[in-house]
Amino acid sequence: MDALADPRAGGILTVDLGALAANWRTLRARLAPGAECGGVIKANGYGLGAVTVAHALCGAGCRTFFVAQLEEGLRVAPTLPADARVFVLSGPTPGTEPEFVAAGLIPVLNSPEQMEGWAAHARVRERALPAALHVDTGMTRLGLSAKELAALVAAGGPPPAVPLVLVMSHLACADEPGHPLTPRQLETFRAARAALPGVPGSLANSSGIFIGVDAHHDLVRPGVALYGVNPTSGRPNPMADVIRLQARVLQVRHVDAPATVGYGAGHRAATGTRIATVGVGYADGLPRASSGLIVGYIGETPVPLVGRVSMDLVTFDVSAVPDDRPVRAGDLIDLIGPFNPVDDLAARAGTIGYEILTTLGPRFARHHVHRPVP
Ligand SMILES: *Cc1c(COP(=O)(O)O)cnc(C)c1O
Repeated sequence: MDALADPRAGGILTVDLGALAANWRTLRARLAPGAECGGVIKANGYGLGAVTVAHALCGAGCRTFFVAQLEEGLRVAPTLPADARVFVLSGPTPGTEPEFVAAGLIPVLNSPEQMEGWAAHARVRERALPAALHVDTGMTRLGLSAKELAALVAAGGPPPAVPLVLVMSHLACADEPGHPLTPRQLETFRAARAALPGVPGSLANSSGIFIGVDAHHDLVRPGVALYGVNPTSGRPNPMADVIRLQARVLQVRHVDAPATVGYGAGHRAATGTRIATVGVGYADGLPRASSGLIVGYIGETPVPLVGRVSMDLVTFDVSAVPDDRPVRAGDLIDLIGPFNPVDDLAARAGTIGYEILTTLGPRFARHHVHRPVP
């Protein structure tokens, strides 16, 4: 990628759509026979561009997508092939039902109220309106409680005008192998499915896929693993890296007498230090809490971030870069790259890869590449 093609941007975000597609195929290959692999593209495709990401996944064979909100569905659904399905996880707020129908979006009904609203709309239209039903199995966030599900079943199940195409739930601790809540959730979900015979089921997110085939049911909903974040905490990452984030050096300072660096004068640089200032800051999603904690790379040389992260700028101590290749304005520092993947940056910054990805700012020059993955 010729970074100099974007001389105006403070940073460059490169998204490898070949790696994204390969990650989807890697996950699909792990599934129980007959299970379908979907793709979660909420929050603008985890910050990488929902439409671009959806098309790359489509190219790999994905046909079932999940977004969080109606607006996200409205943006992406018209760009997808006719046989693709888009589920909206937060379901309809009252009055938005016609927009779901017009765009062909499938709502996830999370409460008796959403079920009633959707059924009422189906009656008005005098037609069946398919939907997914979310049952809570231990997250206490969205979905019908056990009692509400029992009441629905006792009342004869969902109304005929609301054919369920999916019953789903969400795991709270899939990324913590051995957590006692997970087997309880698996069991509760099995019971919920038994109460709704014939309805396809979906439980697993990225980490849930790695629990094993018991968690796969008919459809899995990976998000973060598609984008290269490790879904198997504490084990080597089975996913390919999807993003590279590079910051452009604006200026290099040779410190010729001891000096402090940045706001609060929190870092002291000794004589002889070289400080490179780059045009990326917390306004671009680099957490301010990562001040003094993260490490960039110039080639294979680690360069520590020193001083505070400011809004548009951050400073690195590049003294360790060999003299035969001095750092100059215009050079690029990897904030996320082959030696410091997104999980690394997240861990150092005290957060998770999900948050790094979804807060990547709009100022980066964005490139899409399609590297073949072996
Ligand atoms: C976000 C989300 C997912 C995807 O989770 P990942 O951990 O990113 O794989 C799946 N299901 C639901 C209900 C979600 O909200």
